[in-house]
Amino acid sequence: MEAALLAWFERNGRDLPWRKTRDPYAILVSEVMLQQTQVERVVPRWRRWLERWPTVEALAAASPAEAIREWQGLGYNRRALNLHRAARHVATRGWPDDLTELPGVGRYTADAVSCFAFGRAVLPMDVNVRRVVERTGASFSPAAAQALMDLGATVCLARVPRCGVCPLAERCPSRGRRYEPLRKQGPFEGSFRQRRAQTLRLVASAARRLDELDAEAVRSLARDGLVSVRGGIVSLPA
Ligand code: SF4
Repeated sequence: MEAALLAWFERNGRDLPWRKTRDPYAILVSEVMLQQTQVERVVPRWRRWLERWPTVEALAAASPAEAIREWQGLGYNRRALNLHRAARHVATRGWPDDLTELPGVGRYTADAVSCFAFGRAVLPMDVNVRRVVERTGASFSPAAAQALMDLGATVCLARVPRCGVCPLAERCPSRGRRYEPLRKQGPFEGSFRQRRAQTLRLVASAARRLDELDAEAVRSLARDGLVSVRGGIVSLPA
C-alpha cells in the first residue's frame, strides 16, 4: 500500500513551505501554528514569523509581548507564549532528546519535529494520519508521514471519503463507507473564547485599565500568563 501512496503523493502532494526545510525551529513553528489553525491561514503567517524571527535565538531574544502580538488572529494565543518559552528553553539548553519537555509540545508535535527535522524513525500520528491508518488497517513507515497527512486531508475525508480517487482503494476494507459527523466545536461567536480573544486584542494594542475590560476574560488570560495585571492596569507580559 505504501508504494501506491507514495506514487500518489509525488503527483498530488501539497506544496507547503515548511516541507522544504529541515530546520527544527521552522518546523516547530509550523506544527504549533497548525495545531488549531487551517493550513491556508498558516502559510503566510509562518512566512512572516520566520522573517521576523529567523532563528530560535532571535525568538528567544524577543519579549513574550512581541510574540503574542505577532500571533494575533491565529487563535488559541497560549500557543504563542508556549512557543516563546520553548524558544528560550532551546536557546539556553539546546533541543532536548524528549521534545515533549518543551512547553506546548505534545506527543504529536514532538513526533512531527523528530521525523521531519531530525529524521528519526517515528510516524507522527495527527488526526488525518490516524484516520487513514485505522481505515486501511495497514502499517506505514515514517517515510509515508506527509503522504498520509495529505491523503487524510484531501481524499480520506472524515465523513465522506473520496474513495473513487483514492490510491489505496483497491485494498482498503473501508472503501465506500460513510461516517457520522464528528462533534463540532461550539460556535466561536459569542463564546468565552471570543471574549478572551477580543480582550487580548485590546491589551495587545495598548495597556488598558482593568475596569475598561471584561474582568472574567482578564482573569482567565492572566491565569494563562497572557496578560499581567498591576495597579489596575492590564498589559502584555514584559
Ligand atoms: S479507500 Fe476510502 S476509506 Fe479507504 S483510505 Fe481510501 S478514501 Fe479512505
